[in-house]
Parts: sequence; structure tokens; C-alpha cells
Amino acid sequence: MSLVNGTEIFKAAREGHYAVGAFNTNNLEWTRAILAAGQETNTPILIQTSMGAAKYMGGYELCLNLVEQTVKAMNITVPVIMHLDHGNYEAAKECIEVGYNSVMFDGHDLPFAENLEKTKEIVALAHAKGISVEAEVGSIGGEEDGIVGAGELADVEEAKQLAAAGPDYLAVGIGNIHGVYPANWKGLSFERLEELASVIKIPLVLHGGSGIPKEQIIKAISMGISKVNVNTECQLVFAKATREYIEAGKDQQGKGFDPRKLFAPGTQAITDLVKDRIEWFGTPEVK
Ligand SMILES: [Zn+2]
Repeated sequence: MSLVNGTEIFKAAREGHYAVGAFNTNNLEWTRAILAAGQETNTPILIQTSMGAAKYMGGYELCLNLVEQTVKAMNITVPVIMHLDHGNYEAAKECIEVGYNSVMFDGHDLPFAENLEKTKEIVALAHAKGISVEAEVGSIGGEEDGIVGAGELADVEEAKQLAAAGPDYLAVGIGNIHGVYPANWKGLSFERLEELASVIKIPLVLHGGSGIPKEQIIKAISMGISKVNVNTECQLVFAKATREYIEAGKDQQGKGFDPRKLFAPGTQAITDLVKDRIEWFGTPEVK
């Protein structure tokens, strides 16, 4: 199957009270691992690159080609959405140009009026090419030093205005945080999610999905979260599996140092994690 945009997939998720996972790729192994999880569960899947990961891999065009060619090589038949995660204005425009299926324009560091204006511009450019857009209201916390105990809460009025600018889905801060959650984290704010979901009918996006307890994620999905981003957890399971392989001395047995062997446990660990999260999110099988 060729790549698809996210508009209908996430709209169906919001209506059906489930979510579709969004997983960040960093290289060939990550790409294969994430796509395999979608295929093995027969569910749609979103694969995304941050600006940093795209720079690391060699640019947006290379990332898109990598995903397209891997979908082909692996005979992936489930819908796959190629998405830009946390793009600034220039990155979003470049990915629209290159032909991503979906882009996030993250204008959280801009004054709100400018975020709103630029979101409208990106929406117009993207929609002209059939590309979906994710906007972000407010900011999603990200301190990993344990000082920040609660993520930010999106302003409901700003969220309403941003949703009216025409994006297909909206990332909202409801106490979620990027990276590893500190021990003193206060949990998701279901009050704020309820306020947001009652006035915003487009799919809502939960960033920082790594480390939020399962019950909280399931409750948030039942209330309107339709896309859950998972990045850090994939990195952690890859590192753990690779470390165990090396600590067991397996890289020193036979040709265990061959990258096809060395990276295999970590790659499998990502597939396992992604499949597990697909189950949490209740993503239904493709008919
Ligand atoms: Zn994020």
C-alpha cells in the first residue's frame, strides 16, 4: 500500500474512541521495526521524524524515500502515514514540498497571534497537496532533570482559535511531558482534557506518551485523544536489548559483531513495544 495522509484515519479514531500510535524513527532498523509492528497487528501506523532525526539521517527527502522503499520492500499492506514531528515553519514547508503525508507545525515558541497566522499558512499549503496538519497549542513540558513535576496545560480559548485555523489534529498540553517522567510528576489533567474535548472536535494529540501509566492513557483516549506519540520508550528498549546482547558477550561469539546480528535484539524490542502500545491504544485492525 502506498503512504496515506492522516486526516481520515485520525478522524475515525476520535469518532471510534481509540488512538493510532505515532512512533519516531531514527534509522533503517527503527523504520523496519515500526512498520513490522503495524503489519503484524494489521493496523494503520504513523511513522515520524523529528527535525533532529531527519538531519541525522540526511534530510527529509531521504527519510521519506527510506520509508517509502521500506514499505515496498517489506510488502507492507496496512496504511502508513509519514509525518513530521515538531516542525518549525521552515521544516513544515520543506516537508510539504518533499511530499510527507502529514506535518506538525509547532509554533509554541512564537507569540500566539503568530502561531495562529503561521498555522493558517501551513494548513493552506499542506491542504492544497492533500497533506494533513497537526498544530500545537501552548507548550509541552520537557525538563528531564526532575524539577518540572507537571507539564503545561493548554489554554482552552487559544486551543479553540487554533483548531479554527483548520489543522486536522491538535496537540494539547494536559500535564504530559517529553522524555522520561520525573518521580514527582502529577499525572494528566483530565479536567483540562474534558474542557478541551468538549469544544474541540478535531482529533487531539498526546505527546510524551513514554512513561504515562496505561490507565491514564486509556482514559485520555476515551475522552478524545486520538494520536499518542511514543519516542523515548523505543530508544530505551533498543538500548536495553543491545546492552544485554553485548553484556552477554554475544558480539564476541562467532560473527555476533555483524550489525545484522548486533542490532537484531534492539530492533525486535522496538517491534514488541510498538505492538504492545497498539494494543493499549485499541487501534482496530484494517478491514
Ligand atoms: Zn512531542
